[in-house]
Amino acid sequence: MTVITRFAPSPTGKLHVGNIRTALVCWMAARAEGGRFLLRLDDTDRARSTEENVVAIRRDLEWLGLVPEGEVRQSDRFALYEAAFETLHAAGRVYPCHESEEELSIKRKVALGRGLPPIYDRAALKLSAEERQKLEADGIRPHWRFRLDAAPIEWTDLIRGPQHFEGAALSDPVVRRADGSWLYLLPSVIDDIDMKISHVVRGEDHVSNTAVQIQMFEALGANIPNFAHMALLVGADGKLSKREGAIGVEAIRTDGIEPQALLGLLARIGTSEPVVPIAAPEDLLPGFAFPHMGRAPARFDSTELEQLNAKTLHLLPYAAVKDRLPGGVDETIWLAIRPNLATVADAQAALVAIEGPITAPDLAPEDRAFCAEAATAAASLDWAEAPWIGLVGVLKASTGRKGKALFLPLRLALTGRDHGPEMAALLPLIGRDRAIARLRLAAGLA
Ligand code: GLU
Repeated sequence: MTVITRFAPSPTGKLHVGNIRTALVCWMAARAEGGRFLLRLDDTDRARSTEENVVAIRRDLEWLGLVPEGEVRQSDRFALYEAAFETLHAAGRVYPCHESEEELSIKRKVALGRGLPPIYDRAALKLSAEERQKLEADGIRPHWRFRLDAAPIEWTDLIRGPQHFEGAALSDPVVRRADGSWLYLLPSVIDDIDMKISHVVRGEDHVSNTAVQIQMFEALGANIPNFAHMALLVGADGKLSKREGAIGVEAIRTDGIEPQALLGLLARIGTSEPVVPIAAPEDLLPGFAFPHMGRAPARFDSTELEQLNAKTLHLLPYAAVKDRLPGGVDETIWLAIRPNLATVADAQAALVAIEGPITAPDLAPEDRAFCAEAATAAASLDWAEAPWIGLVGVLKASTGRKGKALFLPLRLALTGRDHGPEMAALLPLIGRDRAIARLRLAAGLA
């Protein structure tokens, strides 16, 4: 069986961390099996779907490296829905209903008042032909419901395990509005059949939809796909705040987060596998399996994302970042500075530490004297061989300094900052002449 998944966002908004995770799991499920990952734009809500969001969704998926191998738009497929609807109508599986919103709301309240579940009473099915004609003559256009079978509905969810619903305990869902427009449930099934989707992967808020959709697959004579319902995403404190939940790709990118870091985190939170930095989305495939995904909510923590971003940068080759680096950062510099960056933007400060101009530190008299000694030592150093090791070796022996007293004045003098990339990597890049000049400046000699 070829695994075919689809990511089905509604272009009524931008992608956020929650649906990026869904896209990622769809992508991994397909790609781990050499299958296909498709994009389906659920844009039947013409009023709220925008072209701008469609463009943003495609661009964000590309930025993430989750490129679909095909795309369909529901708004292009109304003829397909119409045909399937006719089949269901002919088979008596969809039926017209003429109740208004108010009538339905009263019915629900009455049921609840009697301690009964608010299930639609199928009054529409009991109308005589005459009564129906009268309603139609009065100009009341019907909405349409799918008639559920009163049978048990069961499936083994790839994440949640065995699931059981009773068809008799569910309300016949409305599938089409009186103005002819479609609700989500039925077109999704028609598309999943047409697109030969083997695995429907989505959030657990869709579990009860799956129960009724399974009967729709059956009513349309189709095979039932596999289902995997992912646990919700929550914030570090147990609930996903509006702000965190709504964090979009744009904001993440502006914060300097690499797509690999976001994917690395979203792939592993809520699973039995550890969060590890990755250089490319494909690195996630060997660790992917539905049974690794837990039923407990997955915790998304933006601090963890920042930490993973730093570890991710450490892995990224020059080619992955070169377009975004400040001019002057070549591959050698990149490899030297990447272990200490939190974001690619920090490369600018690291470059200044190498190329200058730096601000000479304001050192205590004994540290100035120490820098003078360091300048002399630097002048007679063999710069071809690990100069930092050579320099601190000489100074340790001559001054007896060690630890912070040894390293900090040198770092301040040589880079103008008290932190940054490893000095062993930086010093050869700063080079002999600049190093001596900076040490002399810090010593007050220049
Ligand atoms: N457009 C639906 C949603 O975003 C798709 C659900 C599904 O994957 O079937 O919730």
